[in-house]
Amino acid sequence: MTSIALGCIADDFTGATDLANNLVRAGMRVVQTVGVPDAPLDASVDAVVVSLKSRTIAPNQAVAQSLAALQWLKQHEAKQVYFKYCSTFDSTEQGNIGPVIDALMAELGTDFTVATPAFPDAGRTVYRGYLFVGDVLLNESGMQDHPLTPMRDPNLVRVLKPQTQHAVGLVDYRASMDSAQAIEAGFAQLRGDGVGVAIVDALNNEDLYRLGQACAQLPLVTGGSGVAIGLPANFAIEPNAEAAVLPAASGKQAIVSGSCSRATQAQVGAFIEQGGHAIALDPVLLSQDPSKLDAYIAQALDVLATKPVLVYTTTTPEQLAHVQATLGAMAAGDMVEQWLAQVARALVQAGVAQLVVAGGETSGAVVQALGIEQLRIGAQIDPGVPWCHGHANVDTVVPLHICLKSGNFGGVDFFTRAFEVLDA
Ligand code: ADP
Repeated sequence: MTSIALGCIADDFTGATDLANNLVRAGMRVVQTVGVPDAPLDASVDAVVVSLKSRTIAPNQAVAQSLAALQWLKQHEAKQVYFKYCSTFDSTEQGNIGPVIDALMAELGTDFTVATPAFPDAGRTVYRGYLFVGDVLLNESGMQDHPLTPMRDPNLVRVLKPQTQHAVGLVDYRASMDSAQAIEAGFAQLRGDGVGVAIVDALNNEDLYRLGQACAQLPLVTGGSGVAIGLPANFAIEPNAEAAVLPAASGKQAIVSGSCSRATQAQVGAFIEQGGHAIALDPVLLSQDPSKLDAYIAQALDVLATKPVLVYTTTTPEQLAHVQATLGAMAAGDMVEQWLAQVARALVQAGVAQLVVAGGETSGAVVQALGIEQLRIGAQIDPGVPWCHGHANVDTVVPLHICLKSGNFGGVDFFTRAFEVLDA
């Protein structure tokens, strides 16, 4: 059996890709798996990212899935374990960040870990324990209106406290901007005070490199994907461009978007403004008559015959609130994910071999519907969003370039530029 340096567990698919992307950029050869793998892996990988879809399921299920992933990683002798969640700390009062951290710590026999979603390249910084998204606090970033995990408190110590059995503390920016030794001293002090989980401030990549160094001896590291940039060096791995090369792209192009995040709303708007052909699914109509999905798919395939197509449910907070009031928030979320996944499957069956998916939960549903099991990670389009290459199993097995975009990621012209980058 192959042994790996870093064994990662990600709570959603786009998050897993984002993490894998950072590891590839730091020189690691990375395989991302969909769920806990049963097929054997490439013998020559440095890191495996097991992607789950555990962000918004019941906490006990999230714990069970994470422990199953950990078991597999332990069998592959992972030297360090990384639990990846969203850089906007998406969670509810019940979890699932806290309960999963608690379970992994117990299973790894450790009394201390870190928790920081900081990812400066994507505008996520943590200062005095407060999470900023770009220039604004988390709770002013649009995340306060998230369909499943509205984030209304930007103070991460406060957010994490009710979720974990461990005491939560802070290693602040003064240590992060000083040295790995200063951060380690912060760890030692918190540990002495009985703290089990340290939120760590980080304002730039240099802070993350120092943090990575300080985490070298921790059995478990938790965070967004940012902290990962400082870890490969602990395994004597240097940045290496070869790690990002994918096969040449071919086939038709399509976008499926179920994200209602602000960035995605702008991307959908820009795509339409630039003359792109977009088809909006109406969730209320579809819930009344699910057979209407076939008509939407037929319409999409018609467009696809001549140009790329965007199929979306992306909408404004006001319209989202209306749909959720009519159908229930969770039920609407599940239904929309399944409809979009079916659309994606039909598109791939019709010859789409370059597919962009917007939305973390949406991506999870699409990847499952496409029967993708492993993905090789290529070069990034925008921070946190790389193209990936894998095989879809849609009655037949077809090679596919797929990009899984977390809702708030990507520039405004992402839906056109993504394909230009791939063709270049
Ligand atoms: P993000 O990455 O922006 O958080 P996700 O795909 O993770 O995007 O989450 C968006 C959720 O909102 C999904 O569960 C999706 O099915 C749901 N959703 C998308 N569009 C609508 C809509 N028009 N009405 C109701 N729910 C929707």
